[in-house]
Amino acid sequence: MRAAVVTAFDEPVAVEDRPVPRPGPGQVLVRLEACGLCHTDIHAMHGDWPVTPSLPFVPGHEGIGIIEQLGDGVDSRSVGERVALPWLGHACGECRYCVSGRENLCEAQYNNGYSVDGGYAEYAVADARFATPVPEGIDPIEAAPLTCAGVTTYAAIKNARVVPGETVVVFGIGGLGHLAVQYARLVGAKVIAVDVTDEKVALATELGADHVVNAAHTDPVAAIAALGGADVAVVLAVAPTVFRQTFESLNRGGRLVLVSLPAAGELTVPVFDTVLKGISVIGSIVGTRQDLAEVFDLHVAGRTRVFTETRTLDDVNEAVGEVLAGSVPARLVFTYPAPSEPTP
Ligand code: ZN
Ligand code: ZN
Repeated sequence: MRAAVVTAFDEPVAVEDRPVPRPGPGQVLVRLEACGLCHTDIHAMHGDWPVTPSLPFVPGHEGIGIIEQLGDGVDSRSVGERVALPWLGHACGECRYCVSGRENLCEAQYNNGYSVDGGYAEYAVADARFATPVPEGIDPIEAAPLTCAGVTTYAAIKNARVVPGETVVVFGIGGLGHLAVQYARLVGAKVIAVDVTDEKVALATELGADHVVNAAHTDPVAAIAALGGADVAVVLAVAPTVFRQTFESLNRGGRLVLVSLPAAGELTVPVFDTVLKGISVIGSIVGTRQDLAEVFDLHVAGRTRVFTETRTLDDVNEAVGEVLAGSVPARLVFTYPAPSEPTP
C-alpha cells in the first residue's frame, strides 16, 4: 500500500510502499477513502511539541474508510462498515476520566497519526471501539474534517457552555474556524469571526457570522468592544498576539477557550482583571466518541457545511506548504483510489 511516512522531523514526508498492516485482537483493518490534513499533523511531522512521535510514523487523524477485516474478538463492528479514525484512537475505559464521560482526557490514550500510524495511507488498523461509525448520508470527503476540526470545535462550544443570545468570537477561520462559526450559531449565539485574510472573513460571512473583522487592518479588540464585547472567545489561531487580544475582548463572566496548540506558547493573564471580571480560561482538547457521533448527526440533518479541497497523497509536502502559507480557505483532504482503480 502507499503511505506517507515521516522518517525525520526536518525532512519532507516520503510517500512509499509499505505492507498492508494486519489487525490485532480488538482491532479492525480499514481501507481509507479520505483523510484530512490538520495543523496537528504538521506539528507531528516537525516534532514541534514536548512529546514527539516515535519515528518512523504515518500521520493523519481525520481518516475515513471502510472496514475490510476484523481482528480476533471484534463483534461491535462489521466488514463493509464506514468508520472514522479520529485523534482519540484508544482510551482505557476504566480510569476516572473514561468512566465520567471524559475519555478525551484519559492518560492511557493513544492517538491516531501520532502515537500509532494514522490515515495518510491506503490502509490503517485501529481499535474497533474507537473506529467511530459514519452514518449514511455523509460523503467521506466531508466526514474527514468533521472527525477532528468538527468534533474539536463542537466540544469547544459545549465546554464554554454558550447560551442563546451570548456573543462568541472565533479567532482564526480555517479548517476549524469555519465549523466553529456554525456550531456557535447552532446554540443560538451571535458570532464575530476574526481572521487576517479577506477570503477567510468572506467565508465566515457566507457561513452566517454576524460580524467579521479582518485583523490585518483593524484592531480586533477595539472592533469587538464596539460590537458589545464577547462572552466567549474561541482561540483557533496560533499567532502570539492573538491570545492577549482574545482575553481583552471578553466581557465580565467571559470564557476564554484555548484550542490551538502553537509550537511554543504561554498565556499571561492579569490576575486582577481575571478575578474582578469573573473570567474563565478553558483548555479544550478534541472530543469524545459521543461528541463525534453528534457532529455526524448534525451534518446528516443539514445543520453544517464543510468546505474542502482534495489532494492526493503524492501532494503531501505541497499541501503542508499550502496550509502553512494560509492560502487555502478550506480543509485539505487527501483522497485514495477506490479498489477498482489502478494504484498509481
Ligand atoms: Zn486535528
Ligand atoms: Zn482512561
